[in-house]
Order: sequence, then structure tokens, then C-alpha cells
Amino acid sequence: MGASHQAIVLVVEDEPAQRDVLAYNLEADGFKVAMAVDGEEGLLMVDEVQPDIILLDWMLPNVSGIEVCRRLKTRPETRNIPVIMLSARSEDVDRVRGLETGADDYVVKPYSVIELLARVRSQLRRTRPASVGEVLVFDDITLNSETHKVTRGGSNLKLGPTEFRLLATFMERPGRVWSREQLLDRVWGRDIYVDTRTVDVHVGRLRKTLCDAGGKDPIRTVRGAGYSLG
Ligand code: CA
Repeated sequence: MGASHQAIVLVVEDEPAQRDVLAYNLEADGFKVAMAVDGEEGLLMVDEVQPDIILLDWMLPNVSGIEVCRRLKTRPETRNIPVIMLSARSEDVDRVRGLETGADDYVVKPYSVIELLARVRSQLRRTRPASVGEVLVFDDITLNSETHKVTRGGSNLKLGPTEFRLLATFMERPGRVWSREQLLDRVWGRDIYVDTRTVDVHVGRLRKTLCDAGGKDPIRTVRGAGYSLG
């Protein structure tokens, strides 16, 4: 799978042993992992790494997991990031549910790592389908993120790795207008410096490949805003 199409998982957990086990297993499963040791750092890391999903311990120093979750779910920029709460006892889970923190799922410690990974994938299937190997379809275009195969109207398209990631990003959210900066973050990664004009070059290549396969140009240029699929 292309590097930037790996989903980023933020683990907010104060127990080092738990953090290590999660990081090890998530990385082995193909995820990028970021870690925070308490609630305060967790909130800062959310803005810094823009995770695709958050595993959030309930009992944390400084700011509790519940408070972190509540804050994330009230901010428009972070509201849609899935949060899985990790809690020590099942009574805690009942309390979390009762508090309506907005968490998307709950797991009781000690959890089975296999089950937790399944729940992570299940959340991502909804929000980042290309990162978990789903087949995406838009009009006559099909993208298989598992086999890296792209077809239009039944014929195979040859895309470079960057064009593939661009198309996957577009196809995960048809109709969404992406700014050049957002595409840079998503397709090239935050830690790499690339000029925004590079985005235009690769969108141009993707467009050409799609149009050469027949059919109309599915990518819309939105003046002053960026690009969208459909
Ligand atoms: Ca804890």
C-alpha cells in the first residue's frame, strides 16, 4: 500500500507497556502510529499529526480521556475523527456510554489486540476506506486499494504511485473540495516539503490518464479553492 495511504492512528495512553503493545501491533498491521502519554499531549498531537483514528485511554493524567473525547467531538475540525475509548472496567464503559462523550466505539481492558484491530478497521472502512483495502467506485471508475488496480469503463489504467494516491483520496470523498495544501498533507505527507504547484502537475497527469480512457473529465477545478471529484 502506498505510504501516505496508510491510516495514521493516534494512541493516547499513559501506560508505557500498553502503548508499546499497541504501537507494535498497529505497525505490524500496516498503520502509521503516533503516540501521546496524556490527555493534554493527546489534544496537541491531534492538531499536529491529523490522525485518521484515535485510541483513547479513559484514565489519563492531566486531562481525562473522556474530556479529551468531549473536546474533540465539539470541534468541527476534529468531530469526524473516529475515537475508540479504552477502559479498564466494563462499568467504566457503561459510564462512558452514559456520559455521551461521542466516542465511536469502546473496548474493555484487557482487550484482545486482534479484536481491537478489527474495530479500528471497521471504523476506517467508513472514514478512510482506501486505507483498509476497500474497492472504491465512482461512476465508471473503480479503484482497488488492495491490488492497486484502477479501471475506467472496464479498461485498466496505468497510474504512477502519486496519481494512485490522489485518485484514492478523491474517491474516498466524492464531491469534497480539497485545497492544494490538504492534498499535499494527505498524498505526500505532512513531513515532506513539496510546492503546491506539484499538486497541479500530478492532478494534470491523473486527469489525462482518466480522460485518455474515455468519458468526461471527472475532476473539477474549483477556482480559489482546489479540486474535487465530481
Ligand atoms: Ca491509564
